[in-house]
Amino acid sequence: MVVELICVGTEILLGNIVNTNGAYLAEKCAGLGLSCYFQTVVGDNAERLSQVLRTALGRADIVILSGGLGPTEDDLTKETAAKVCGKPLYLHEPSKKAIEAFFAQKGLEPTDNNWKQAMLPEGAIVLANRNGTAPGVILETEEARVILLPGPPNELYPMFEESVAPYLESLNSQVICSTTVKICGVGESKAETMVKDLIDAQTNPTIATYAKTGEVHIRVTAGAGDKKEAMKLIKPMVKELKARFGNHVYTTEEETTLEKSVADLLLANHLTVTCAESCTGGLLSARLVNVPGISEVYKFGMVTYSNKVKRRFLGVKKSTLQKHGAVSEKTAEEMAKGAALMSKADVAVSITGIAGPDGGTEEKPVGLVYMACYVKGKVTVKKCQFSGNRGKIRESAVSAALTLMRSCILEYFSKVTFGKKES
Ligand code: ATP
Ligand code: MG
Repeated sequence: MVVELICVGTEILLGNIVNTNGAYLAEKCAGLGLSCYFQTVVGDNAERLSQVLRTALGRADIVILSGGLGPTEDDLTKETAAKVCGKPLYLHEPSKKAIEAFFAQKGLEPTDNNWKQAMLPEGAIVLANRNGTAPGVILETEEARVILLPGPPNELYPMFEESVAPYLESLNSQVICSTTVKICGVGESKAETMVKDLIDAQTNPTIATYAKTGEVHIRVTAGAGDKKEAMKLIKPMVKELKARFGNHVYTTEEETTLEKSVADLLLANHLTVTCAESCTGGLLSARLVNVPGISEVYKFGMVTYSNKVKRRFLGVKKSTLQKHGAVSEKTAEEMAKGAALMSKADVAVSITGIAGPDGGTEEKPVGLVYMACYVKGKVTVKKCQFSGNRGKIRESAVSAALTLMRSCILEYFSKVTFGKKES
Protein backbone atom coordinates (compact mmCIF):
# COMPACT_ATOMS: atom_id res chain seq x y z
CA MET A 1 0.00 0.00 0.00
CA VAL A 2 1.18 3.49 -0.85
CA VAL A 3 0.99 6.37 1.56
CA GLU A 4 1.58 10.04 0.81
CA LEU A 5 2.27 12.79 3.34
CA ILE A 6 1.16 16.40 3.24
CA CYS A 7 2.35 18.78 5.94
CA VAL A 8 0.35 21.98 6.05
CA GLY A 9 1.69 25.27 7.38
CA THR A 10 3.16 28.45 5.98
CA GLU A 11 5.70 28.48 8.81
CA ILE A 12 7.11 25.14 7.60
CA LEU A 13 7.20 26.43 4.06
CA LEU A 14 9.16 29.49 5.15
CA GLY A 15 11.56 27.44 7.22
CA ASN A 16 10.46 28.98 10.52
CA ILE A 17 9.86 25.51 11.92
CA VAL A 18 11.45 22.25 10.93
CA ASN A 19 9.13 19.63 9.47
CA THR A 20 9.70 17.02 12.16
CA ASN A 21 6.16 15.67 11.70
CA GLY A 22 7.09 14.71 8.15
CA ALA A 23 10.13 12.80 9.36
CA TYR A 24 8.18 11.15 12.17
CA LEU A 25 5.29 10.06 9.95
CA ALA A 26 7.58 8.83 7.20
CA GLU A 27 9.57 6.69 9.59
CA LYS A 28 6.47 5.28 11.24
CA CYS A 29 4.82 4.46 7.90
CA ALA A 30 7.99 2.74 6.68
CA GLY A 31 7.97 0.72 9.89
CA LEU A 32 4.40 -0.34 9.11
CA GLY A 33 5.50 -1.55 5.71
CA LEU A 34 3.85 1.23 3.71
CA SER A 35 5.58 2.66 0.66
CA CYS A 36 5.93 6.43 0.54
CA TYR A 37 6.91 8.08 -2.74
CA PHE A 38 5.91 11.69 -2.18
CA GLN A 39 5.83 14.19 0.68
CA THR A 40 4.61 17.72 0.23
CA VAL A 41 4.74 20.86 2.32
CA VAL A 42 2.07 23.39 1.49
CA GLY A 43 1.13 26.71 3.08
CA ASP A 44 -2.15 27.60 4.78
CA ASN A 45 -3.93 28.20 1.51
CA ALA A 46 -7.14 26.41 0.57
CA GLU A 47 -6.60 26.45 -3.16
CA ARG A 48 -3.05 25.13 -3.12
CA LEU A 49 -3.91 22.58 -0.44
CA SER A 50 -6.82 21.31 -2.57
CA GLN A 51 -4.44 20.99 -5.47
CA VAL A 52 -1.84 18.90 -3.64
CA LEU A 53 -4.52 16.79 -1.97
CA ARG A 54 -6.13 15.98 -5.31
CA THR A 55 -2.77 15.03 -6.75
CA ALA A 56 -2.05 12.80 -3.74
CA LEU A 57 -5.47 11.15 -3.94
CA GLY A 58 -4.76 10.30 -7.55
CA ARG A 59 -1.63 8.28 -6.75
CA ALA A 60 -1.80 7.00 -3.16
CA ASP A 61 -3.98 4.63 -1.17
CA ILE A 62 -3.60 6.61 2.02
CA VAL A 63 -2.97 10.35 2.40
CA ILE A 64 -1.88 11.65 5.79
CA LEU A 65 -2.06 15.38 6.45
CA SER A 66 -0.61 17.15 9.47
CA GLY A 67 -1.41 20.64 10.73
CA GLY A 68 -4.13 23.19 10.30
CA LEU A 69 -6.77 21.58 12.53
CA GLY A 70 -6.69 24.47 15.00
CA PRO A 71 -9.44 26.93 15.83
CA THR A 72 -8.17 29.95 13.92
CA GLU A 73 -9.03 31.34 10.53
CA ASP A 74 -5.84 30.12 8.88
CA ASP A 75 -6.48 26.54 10.03
CA LEU A 76 -8.27 25.20 7.00
CA THR A 77 -7.10 21.63 6.49
CA LYS A 78 -10.31 19.93 7.60
CA GLU A 79 -12.60 22.26 5.69
CA THR A 80 -10.51 21.87 2.54
CA ALA A 81 -10.15 18.09 2.81
CA ALA A 82 -13.90 17.73 3.43
CA LYS A 83 -14.64 19.78 0.34
CA VAL A 84 -12.21 17.86 -1.86
CA CYS A 85 -13.70 14.56 -0.64
CA GLY A 86 -17.26 15.85 -1.04
CA LYS A 87 -18.20 15.42 2.62
CA PRO A 88 -20.21 18.20 4.30
CA LEU A 89 -19.32 19.23 7.86
CA TYR A 90 -21.66 18.74 10.82
CA LEU A 91 -21.41 19.44 14.54
CA HIS A 92 -20.05 16.30 16.20
CA GLU A 93 -21.53 16.35 19.71
CA PRO A 94 -18.96 14.10 21.42
CA SER A 95 -16.14 16.33 20.14
CA LYS A 96 -18.00 19.41 21.38
CA LYS A 97 -18.28 17.78 24.80
CA ALA A 98 -14.61 16.80 24.74
CA ILE A 99 -13.66 20.40 23.98
CA GLU A 100 -15.85 21.64 26.87
CA ALA A 101 -14.24 19.12 29.21
CA PHE A 102 -10.73 20.05 28.02
CA PHE A 103 -11.32 23.73 28.83
CA ALA A 104 -13.14 22.99 32.10
CA GLN A 105 -10.21 20.92 33.30
CA LYS A 106 -7.88 23.83 32.66
CA GLY A 107 -10.32 26.26 34.29
CA LEU A 108 -10.67 28.17 31.01
CA GLU A 109 -13.60 29.28 28.86
CA PRO A 110 -13.67 28.12 25.25
CA THR A 111 -13.90 30.88 22.68
CA ASP A 112 -16.43 30.82 19.84
CA ASN A 113 -13.90 29.65 17.28
CA ASN A 114 -13.18 26.52 19.36
CA TRP A 115 -16.48 25.01 18.20
CA LYS A 116 -15.06 25.01 14.70
CA GLN A 117 -12.94 22.08 15.88
CA ALA A 118 -16.08 20.04 16.63
CA MET A 119 -17.33 20.43 13.05
CA LEU A 120 -16.47 17.16 11.34
CA PRO A 121 -16.92 15.72 7.85
CA GLU A 122 -19.82 13.33 7.46
CA GLY A 123 -18.93 9.67 7.84
CA ALA A 124 -15.58 10.48 9.40
CA ILE A 125 -13.86 8.22 11.88
CA VAL A 126 -13.00 10.51 14.79
CA LEU A 127 -9.69 10.15 16.62
CA ALA A 128 -9.62 11.39 20.20
CA ASN A 129 -7.02 14.00 21.12
CA ARG A 130 -5.81 13.56 24.70
CA ASN A 131 -3.46 16.52 24.54
CA GLY A 132 -5.44 19.17 22.73
CA THR A 133 -8.81 20.19 21.38
CA ALA A 134 -8.63 19.20 17.72
CA PRO A 135 -9.82 15.64 17.08
CA GLY A 136 -8.07 13.72 14.34
CA VAL A 137 -10.12 12.56 11.37
CA ILE A 138 -10.12 9.60 9.02
CA LEU A 139 -12.11 9.98 5.81
CA GLU A 140 -12.71 6.94 3.70
CA THR A 141 -13.49 7.77 0.10
CA GLU A 142 -13.64 5.63 -3.01
CA GLU A 143 -10.30 6.94 -4.12
CA ALA A 144 -8.29 6.69 -0.94
CA ARG A 145 -8.21 7.09 2.82
CA VAL A 146 -7.46 10.55 4.11
CA ILE A 147 -6.12 10.99 7.63
CA LEU A 148 -6.02 14.45 9.24
CA LEU A 149 -3.79 14.97 12.26
CA PRO A 150 -3.11 18.03 14.42
CA GLY A 151 0.18 19.89 13.87
CA PRO A 152 1.63 20.08 17.40
CA PRO A 153 3.93 17.05 17.78
CA ASN A 154 2.80 16.44 21.37
CA GLU A 155 -0.72 15.88 19.97
CA LEU A 156 0.21 14.16 16.73
CA TYR A 157 2.61 11.52 18.10
CA PRO A 158 0.26 9.99 20.71
CA MET A 159 -2.66 10.14 18.27
CA PHE A 160 -0.61 8.30 15.70
CA GLU A 161 0.55 5.65 18.16
CA GLU A 162 -2.86 5.12 19.73
CA SER A 163 -5.25 5.42 16.80
CA VAL A 164 -3.59 5.73 13.42
CA ALA A 165 -1.03 2.92 13.65
CA PRO A 166 -3.65 0.32 14.68
CA TYR A 167 -5.95 1.58 11.91
CA LEU A 168 -3.20 1.28 9.29
CA GLU A 169 -2.27 -2.15 10.60
CA SER A 170 -5.89 -3.27 10.30
CA LEU A 171 -5.87 -2.36 6.58
CA ASN A 172 -2.97 -4.63 5.95
CA SER A 173 -3.61 -8.34 5.96
CA GLN A 174 0.12 -8.77 6.42
CA VAL A 175 1.93 -8.34 9.71
CA ILE A 176 5.00 -6.14 9.38
CA CYS A 177 7.89 -6.65 11.80
CA SER A 178 11.29 -5.12 11.93
CA THR A 179 14.54 -5.38 13.82
CA THR A 180 17.17 -2.66 13.91
CA VAL A 181 20.81 -3.64 13.93
CA LYS A 182 22.68 -0.77 15.59
CA ILE A 183 26.30 -0.28 14.66
CA CYS A 184 29.01 1.99 16.07
CA GLY A 185 32.52 2.73 14.90
CA VAL A 186 31.82 2.27 11.19
CA GLY A 187 31.16 5.25 8.93
CA GLU A 188 27.94 5.52 6.97
CA SER A 189 29.38 5.06 3.51
CA LYS A 190 31.56 2.16 4.59
CA ALA A 191 28.55 0.49 6.25
CA GLU A 192 26.53 0.95 3.09
CA THR A 193 29.23 -0.55 0.95
CA MET A 194 29.40 -3.50 3.29
CA VAL A 195 25.70 -4.27 2.74
CA LYS A 196 25.26 -3.07 -0.82
CA ASP A 197 24.87 -6.60 -2.21
CA LEU A 198 22.19 -7.32 0.39
CA ILE A 199 20.32 -4.12 -0.46
CA ASP A 200 20.53 -4.86 -4.18
CA ALA A 201 19.14 -8.35 -3.71
CA GLN A 202 16.50 -7.46 -1.13
CA THR A 203 12.89 -8.57 -1.43
CA ASN A 204 11.40 -9.75 1.85
CA PRO A 205 12.94 -8.79 4.23
CA THR A 206 13.96 -5.35 3.04
CA ILE A 207 16.92 -3.56 4.57
CA ALA A 208 17.49 0.16 4.96
CA THR A 209 20.39 2.05 6.48
CA TYR A 210 20.00 5.18 8.61
CA ALA A 211 22.96 7.36 9.58
CA LYS A 212 22.95 8.75 13.12
CA THR A 213 25.74 10.79 14.70
CA GLY A 214 28.58 8.31 15.16
CA GLU A 215 26.31 5.37 14.46
CA VAL A 216 24.60 3.56 11.63
CA HIS A 217 21.31 1.76 12.09
CA ILE A 218 20.22 -0.93 9.67
CA ARG A 219 16.56 -1.78 9.76
CA VAL A 220 15.45 -5.19 8.57
CA THR A 221 11.72 -5.33 7.81
CA ALA A 222 9.64 -8.30 6.78
CA GLY A 223 5.97 -8.86 6.02
CA ALA A 224 4.24 -12.18 6.61
CA GLY A 225 0.98 -13.78 7.68
CA ASP A 226 1.86 -13.52 11.36
CA LYS A 227 4.57 -12.19 13.63
CA LYS A 228 6.32 -15.52 14.00
CA GLU A 229 6.63 -15.94 10.23
CA ALA A 230 7.90 -12.39 9.83
CA MET A 231 10.54 -12.87 12.53
CA LYS A 232 11.63 -16.09 10.83
CA LEU A 233 12.37 -14.08 7.69
CA ILE A 234 14.21 -11.39 9.65
CA LYS A 235 16.44 -13.67 11.70
CA PRO A 236 18.86 -14.91 9.02
CA MET A 237 19.38 -11.37 7.72
CA VAL A 238 20.18 -10.09 11.21
CA LYS A 239 22.60 -12.98 11.61
CA GLU A 240 24.29 -12.08 8.35
CA LEU A 241 24.63 -8.43 9.39
CA LYS A 242 26.09 -9.45 12.73
CA ALA A 243 28.61 -11.64 10.93
CA ARG A 244 29.60 -8.77 8.65
CA PHE A 245 29.90 -6.08 11.30
CA GLY A 246 31.19 -8.23 14.15
CA ASN A 247 31.67 -6.41 17.42
CA HIS A 248 30.61 -3.13 15.86
CA VAL A 249 27.01 -4.25 16.41
CA TYR A 250 26.16 -2.94 19.85
CA THR A 251 22.54 -4.05 19.98
CA THR A 252 19.53 -5.27 18.04
CA GLU A 253 17.10 -4.05 20.67
CA GLU A 254 14.85 -1.15 19.82
CA GLU A 255 15.19 0.70 23.16
CA THR A 256 18.93 0.22 23.61
CA THR A 257 21.01 3.31 22.90
CA LEU A 258 24.77 3.46 22.54
CA GLU A 259 25.13 4.93 26.04
CA LYS A 260 22.91 2.18 27.40
CA SER A 261 25.06 -0.50 25.81
CA VAL A 262 28.15 1.07 27.42
CA ALA A 263 26.37 1.44 30.77
CA ASP A 264 25.28 -2.22 30.59
CA LEU A 265 28.90 -3.27 30.10
CA LEU A 266 30.01 -1.17 33.05
CA LEU A 267 27.21 -2.42 35.28
CA ALA A 268 27.60 -6.07 34.31
CA ASN A 269 31.31 -5.96 35.08
CA HIS A 270 31.05 -3.72 38.16
CA LEU A 271 33.32 -1.09 36.65
CA THR A 272 33.13 2.41 38.05
CA VAL A 273 33.58 5.19 35.54
CA THR A 274 34.56 8.84 35.37
CA CYS A 275 34.88 11.38 32.59
CA ALA A 276 37.28 14.31 32.19
CA GLU A 277 35.96 16.46 29.39
CA SER A 278 37.27 19.56 27.75
CA CYS A 279 35.57 20.54 24.46
CA THR A 280 32.48 18.42 25.14
CA GLY A 281 31.86 20.27 28.40
CA GLY A 282 29.98 17.48 30.19
CA LEU A 283 28.05 16.05 27.23
CA LEU A 284 29.61 12.63 27.69
CA SER A 285 28.61 12.57 31.34
CA ALA A 286 25.14 13.70 30.33
CA ARG A 287 24.82 10.84 27.83
CA LEU A 288 25.85 8.31 30.47
CA VAL A 289 23.49 9.84 33.02
CA ASN A 290 20.67 9.36 30.47
CA VAL A 291 20.75 5.72 31.52
CA PRO A 292 18.67 4.86 34.59
CA GLY A 293 20.67 2.92 37.19
CA ILE A 294 24.02 4.42 36.17
CA SER A 295 24.58 5.71 39.71
CA GLU A 296 25.89 2.25 40.60
CA VAL A 297 29.02 2.95 38.57
CA TYR A 298 29.09 6.67 37.78
CA LYS A 299 30.06 8.71 40.81
CA PHE A 300 31.30 11.93 39.32
CA GLY A 301 32.74 13.52 36.23
CA MET A 302 34.76 16.62 35.48
CA VAL A 303 34.74 19.42 32.99
CA THR A 304 38.40 20.41 32.82
CA TYR A 305 38.39 23.21 30.33
CA SER A 306 41.43 25.35 31.02
CA ASN A 307 45.04 24.18 30.96
CA LYS A 308 45.43 25.22 34.56
CA VAL A 309 42.59 22.95 35.65
CA LYS A 310 43.90 20.08 33.54
CA ARG A 311 47.18 20.41 35.44
CA ARG A 312 45.72 20.94 38.87
CA PHE A 313 42.97 18.32 38.93
CA LEU A 314 44.25 15.77 36.45
CA GLY A 315 47.99 16.15 36.87
CA VAL A 316 48.62 16.86 33.19
CA LYS A 317 52.28 17.88 33.01
CA LYS A 318 53.23 21.45 32.25
CA SER A 319 55.83 20.13 29.83
CA THR A 320 53.17 18.08 28.00
CA LEU A 321 50.99 21.13 27.52
CA GLN A 322 53.95 23.22 26.40
CA LYS A 323 55.42 20.67 24.05
CA HIS A 324 52.29 19.04 22.60
CA GLY A 325 49.48 21.45 23.43
CA ALA A 326 46.14 20.85 25.15
CA VAL A 327 44.74 19.13 22.06
CA SER A 328 47.16 16.26 21.71
CA GLU A 329 47.50 12.56 22.16
CA LYS A 330 49.72 13.00 25.19
CA THR A 331 47.36 15.41 26.94
CA ALA A 332 44.38 13.10 26.34
CA GLU A 333 46.36 10.22 27.78
CA GLU A 334 47.45 12.14 30.87
CA MET A 335 43.91 13.45 31.38
CA ALA A 336 42.48 9.91 31.42
CA LYS A 337 45.21 8.60 33.70
CA GLY A 338 44.87 11.57 36.01
CA ALA A 339 41.09 11.23 36.17
CA ALA A 340 41.42 7.54 37.04
CA LEU A 341 44.00 8.26 39.69
CA MET A 342 42.11 11.01 41.44
CA SER A 343 38.70 9.28 41.25
CA LYS A 344 39.91 5.70 41.73
CA ALA A 345 37.48 4.72 38.99
CA ASP A 346 38.10 1.56 36.95
CA VAL A 347 37.34 3.32 33.69
CA ALA A 348 38.24 6.93 32.90
CA VAL A 349 37.57 8.71 29.64
CA SER A 350 39.02 12.00 28.50
CA ILE A 351 38.14 14.22 25.57
CA THR A 352 40.12 17.23 24.36
CA GLY A 353 39.62 18.90 21.00
CA ILE A 354 38.95 21.96 18.90
CA ALA A 355 35.20 22.41 18.50
CA GLY A 356 35.54 25.67 16.57
CA PRO A 357 34.51 27.79 14.84
CA ASP A 358 37.79 29.51 15.81
CA GLY A 359 41.00 28.15 17.23
CA GLY A 360 41.97 25.87 14.37
CA THR A 361 45.39 25.92 12.69
CA GLU A 362 46.78 24.10 9.70
CA GLU A 363 48.41 21.57 11.93
CA LYS A 364 45.43 21.28 14.28
CA PRO A 365 42.26 22.08 12.36
CA VAL A 366 38.80 22.62 13.80
CA GLY A 367 37.23 19.24 14.48
CA LEU A 368 40.47 17.61 15.66
CA VAL A 369 39.66 15.71 18.84
CA TYR A 370 41.78 13.38 20.93
CA MET A 371 40.18 11.03 23.39
CA ALA A 372 41.56 8.43 25.72
CA CYS A 373 40.07 5.58 27.63
CA TYR A 374 41.71 4.09 30.69
CA VAL A 375 40.53 0.63 31.74
CA LYS A 376 42.21 -0.79 34.84
CA GLY A 377 45.65 0.56 34.06
CA LYS A 378 45.63 0.34 30.27
CA VAL A 379 45.14 3.52 28.27
CA THR A 380 44.03 3.66 24.64
CA VAL A 381 44.18 6.97 22.82
CA LYS A 382 42.22 7.81 19.70
CA LYS A 383 42.62 10.68 17.28
CA CYS A 384 39.52 11.81 15.40
CA GLN A 385 38.86 14.45 12.78
CA PHE A 386 35.23 15.53 12.73
CA SER A 387 33.45 17.98 10.47
CA GLY A 388 30.42 20.19 10.93
CA ASN A 389 29.65 23.03 13.27
CA ARG A 390 30.55 23.30 16.94
CA GLY A 391 27.48 21.37 18.09
CA LYS A 392 27.97 18.59 15.57
CA ILE A 393 31.66 18.22 16.40
CA ARG A 394 30.92 17.97 20.11
CA GLU A 395 28.16 15.40 19.56
CA SER A 396 30.37 13.37 17.25
CA ALA A 397 33.14 13.42 19.87
CA VAL A 398 30.78 12.06 22.52
CA SER A 399 29.57 9.21 20.28
CA ALA A 400 33.15 8.35 19.38
CA ALA A 401 34.11 8.37 23.07
CA LEU A 402 31.26 5.98 23.90
CA THR A 403 32.38 3.74 21.04
CA LEU A 404 35.96 3.85 22.34
CA MET A 405 34.81 3.00 25.86
CA ARG A 406 32.86 0.07 24.55
CA SER A 407 35.73 -1.33 22.52
CA CYS A 408 38.25 -0.86 25.37
CA ILE A 409 36.03 -2.61 27.90
CA LEU A 410 35.26 -5.47 25.51
CA GLU A 411 38.93 -5.83 24.77
CA TYR A 412 39.87 -5.80 28.42
CA PHE A 413 37.48 -8.59 29.25
CA SER A 414 37.48 -10.89 26.29
CA LYS A 415 40.61 -9.84 24.47
CA VAL A 416 38.56 -9.84 21.28
CA THR A 417 39.97 -7.58 18.65
CA PHE A 418 37.38 -4.93 18.05
CA GLY A 419 36.20 -4.93 14.47
CA LYS A 420 38.22 -7.94 13.37
CA LYS A 421 35.62 -8.60 10.67
CA GLU A 422 36.17 -5.23 9.15
CA SER A 423 39.22 -5.70 6.97
P1 ATP B 1 -3.19 24.49 16.64
O1 ATP B 1 -4.44 24.07 17.28
O2 ATP B 1 -2.04 24.65 17.59
O3 ATP B 1 -3.36 25.65 15.69
P2 ATP B 1 -2.95 22.89 14.24
O4 ATP B 1 -3.38 21.47 14.08
O5 ATP B 1 -3.76 23.91 13.55
O6 ATP B 1 -2.76 23.20 15.75
P3 ATP B 1 -0.74 24.17 13.04
O7 ATP B 1 -1.44 25.45 13.34
O8 ATP B 1 -0.49 23.84 11.63
O9 ATP B 1 -1.49 22.95 13.69
O10 ATP B 1 0.62 24.09 13.84
C1 ATP B 1 0.66 24.34 15.22
C2 ATP B 1 2.07 24.15 15.72
O11 ATP B 1 2.43 22.79 15.60
C3 ATP B 1 3.13 24.88 14.91
O12 ATP B 1 3.31 26.18 15.36
C4 ATP B 1 4.33 24.01 15.16
O13 ATP B 1 4.93 24.34 16.38
C5 ATP B 1 3.76 22.64 15.23
N1 ATP B 1 3.81 22.00 13.91
C6 ATP B 1 2.91 22.09 12.93
N2 ATP B 1 3.27 21.37 11.85
C7 ATP B 1 4.45 20.82 12.15
C8 ATP B 1 5.36 19.98 11.46
N3 ATP B 1 5.10 19.55 10.22
N4 ATP B 1 6.49 19.59 12.08
C9 ATP B 1 6.74 20.01 13.33
N5 ATP B 1 5.93 20.81 14.05
C10 ATP B 1 4.80 21.22 13.48
MG1 MG C 1 -3.18 26.10 13.80
